[in-house]
Amino acid sequence: MEKFFSFKDPVLGRKLLQKLEQDLEAPLRFMEVCGTHTVALFQSGLRSLLPEGLEHLSGPGCPVCVTSSGEMALCLELAQKDDVIVATFGDMLRVPGPDGLNLKEAKALGARVEVCYAPFDALAVARRHPEARVVFLGVGFETTAPAVAATIQQAEALQLYNFSVLSFHKLVPPALRHLLSTGKTAVDGFLLPGHVSTVIGVRPYAFLADEFQLPAVISGFDPLDMLMGLAMMVRQRREHRAAVENQYARAVKKQGNRKALNVMEEVFTVQDAEWRGLGRIPQSGFGLSDRYAVFDALNIFGLQARHMPEPKGCACGQVLQGLIRPDACPLFQKQCTPAHPVGPCMVSTEGSCAAYFQYQLCPGQS
Ligand code: SF4
Repeated sequence: MEKFFSFKDPVLGRKLLQKLEQDLEAPLRFMEVCGTHTVALFQSGLRSLLPEGLEHLSGPGCPVCVTSSGEMALCLELAQKDDVIVATFGDMLRVPGPDGLNLKEAKALGARVEVCYAPFDALAVARRHPEARVVFLGVGFETTAPAVAATIQQAEALQLYNFSVLSFHKLVPPALRHLLSTGKTAVDGFLLPGHVSTVIGVRPYAFLADEFQLPAVISGFDPLDMLMGLAMMVRQRREHRAAVENQYARAVKKQGNRKALNVMEEVFTVQDAEWRGLGRIPQSGFGLSDRYAVFDALNIFGLQARHMPEPKGCACGQVLQGLIRPDACPLFQKQCTPAHPVGPCMVSTEGSCAAYFQYQLCPGQS
């Protein structure tokens, strides 16, 4: 029972694991799409409990990690303008741009960069600095996009026209379709992100089962949730079924969150987006709709998204596609560590390289 010490209900944990082991008839390689799942898998010790034959891959679900080099270049370009204050989540500060400079270093060199804990904080920055143009870096998935959309609406209500958003939001289902369509990523099932699914619901993932015949389970983040999600996935496989099942029904409704979907539909427009490592994926991102163009930093500053190379030697692109594990990157633990990250997957707390570094090296966690 000692291995289940971090579980709220160790008895249930042991039962679920036994069930999973009984049902696992053939090797199964699953992808956990969400960075929070990646960290929870390690942090809870669940990874060390998984039976032989159940292999996990981390997917493109860390918001900072999938922000492309070209997008980072635009963030840094804006930060270097005298009249601009860049407002951002703290995770973005240490993501290296194409030439190695990051926002934290740019700040040390005189750029005006403010860390926000929520998008609404950026409005307070705009009110405090009427002399400046405040640009919020809108990164993340369907989880953060509704709050950013609501912030833009609030900026309009307050007539805060010195506020704008550089929208690099990404959408999860098109990225999964892209991964499977390339034929490079070999997975037998998906553990789908609970947070994103609270917003978009269950239906947007239907193609995983209908077109690719893959089992997929929306899961919460408690280790028992994840264990249950995996047991459901393994059972589908044993029964030769492919369906999108919802383990996290206490939070995820079939239709998603209508209010959040409405605000996103009002403020954003779906467009092509550049993903780190995955390239340009059609209809996989959010830009601002014409109605809110006055808050669109791309529009205001005449910027154009562009493709830029990855940091030299960094294999984040392959890691994010599930083609290699982080510890297969030649720079892992050598030139690239959380203290001196080469790529974003080592920067973010949700990055799989950072998770492997932090937890795989601890006894009993590998
Ligand atoms: S270990 Fe560092 S260099 Fe290698 S893929 Fe991860 S972030 Fe990139």
